[in-house]
Amino acid sequence: IFCPTGAISIRHNREAVWEALADPDVRVVAQVAPAVRVAVGSAFGLPKGKSVMGKIVNVLHRIGFDEVYDTTFSADMTIMEESAEFLNRLKTGEKLPLLTSCCPAWVKFVGDQFPEYKEHVSTCRSPQGMMSAVTKEWFRDPANNPEGKKTVMVSFMPCTAKKMEAKRSNSFTHGEQDTDYVITTTELIDMIRMTGIEFAELEPESSDIPFGFGSGGGVIFGVTGGVTEAVIRRLVPGHDKETLEAIAECGVRDGGFIREFSIPYEGIDLNICVVSGLANARAVMEQVKSGEKNYHLIEVMACRRGCIMGGGQPRLAGDRTKAARTEGIYRADNVAVIKKSDENPMIMSLYEGFLKGKEHELLHNHEFCSS
Ligand code: SF4
Repeated sequence: IFCPTGAISIRHNREAVWEALADPDVRVVAQVAPAVRVAVGSAFGLPKGKSVMGKIVNVLHRIGFDEVYDTTFSADMTIMEESAEFLNRLKTGEKLPLLTSCCPAWVKFVGDQFPEYKEHVSTCRSPQGMMSAVTKEWFRDPANNPEGKKTVMVSFMPCTAKKMEAKRSNSFTHGEQDTDYVITTTELIDMIRMTGIEFAELEPESSDIPFGFGSGGGVIFGVTGGVTEAVIRRLVPGHDKETLEAIAECGVRDGGFIREFSIPYEGIDLNICVVSGLANARAVMEQVKSGEKNYHLIEVMACRRGCIMGGGQPRLAGDRTKAARTEGIYRADNVAVIKKSDENPMIMSLYEGFLKGKEHELLHNHEFCSS
């Protein structure tokens, strides 16, 4: 059973992951979503909302993961693809508004409740889907896997809906499931406790190359509005501090679960709506359907405030914790050296080399599938 809020649960994959880690013929690869890093530390006595990505990388290496990658990297790929798709739809005027596709609970909701808008959902795979598809493909190449090891992909995610996404028919490449196991944040905390490792004492480590380096635009996927803000960063030419501040203040970070704003772009005003919470999404979609509202882009996250409040995150989060997690994500963006996806040199070299000609196959869904 899958539930984005975590009220009902859960398919545990921990035992299968321990078994894979013990198998010398298997390469076990982790990816860690943006929202996870701001929700683990407080379980080990560290300040609420503090990003502990470096410590998570360290502990996963100690546990036995061969590679630890950062889902912010594949969030950057999502932005590259989704921005291109958005520009294309603006040019043709078709299938607008573009509906975001990162949140599987929202995609399922569209399929069930607003099937006439299925074609509007972005064809982009989620960051989890892109990372797993690209990683598996990378290690299919004997040059990157001379020992011929089997690759097992484990993703650390803030919700149980990601477990559902991993099993969808469009989460397979060459007939193989891209993400083998999904571990929620609370399950990760349990795994760390089982090892007896003093998490709080660990030194931070950097993620592994080539998929361990994401931009600030990738990090902010963890909060509502983050996908949209990263898309705007990609579309707007400037990358100086003033431009980034102006984007942050355009309305995308305003409080509230429904945010509406416009930004000028090449002679038109782009009307954008950022929604979190499915009840709010329903209200917005009813207005779109009736013609009362017209948007070019609608971002929806099923969890109110976005993935930082996913059902797989530690529960009992009061207002201070919610605010601290949001601040933790924006702080991680503030300290990121690269702010825009298209300025991530690892992304650009991947596009110019390994990914060339494979973008459609590895980064997009070839059919709408919500279950
Ligand atoms: Fe999962 Fe994030 Fe969607 Fe919540 S908003 S269901 S955490 S993907």
